[in-house]
Amino acid sequence: MALANCKRCGTLFITQFEKHCKACAESVIEDSRKVKQFISANPWATVMEVYHKTGVSLETIYGLMERKRSAL
Ligand SMILES: [Zn+2]
Repeated sequence: MALANCKRCGTLFITQFEKHCKACAESVIEDSRKVKQFISANPWATVMEVYHKTGVSLETIYGLMERKRSAL
């Protein structure tokens, strides 16, 4: 266990491997759910469309896309 600053809100919290504090981890999950839902309904949407339609931050969207690419 170590102390870390939340990547989203900057709060200091105790972490094992998480990048976000508990409150932000929950909204990150909620955001990624929104993005996944939007992309499955609109497979050809651009990042900017996803951003405008879901209201999720670009950083989160790019993060999700990177994870998807590395899973391939
Ligand atoms: Zn946070």
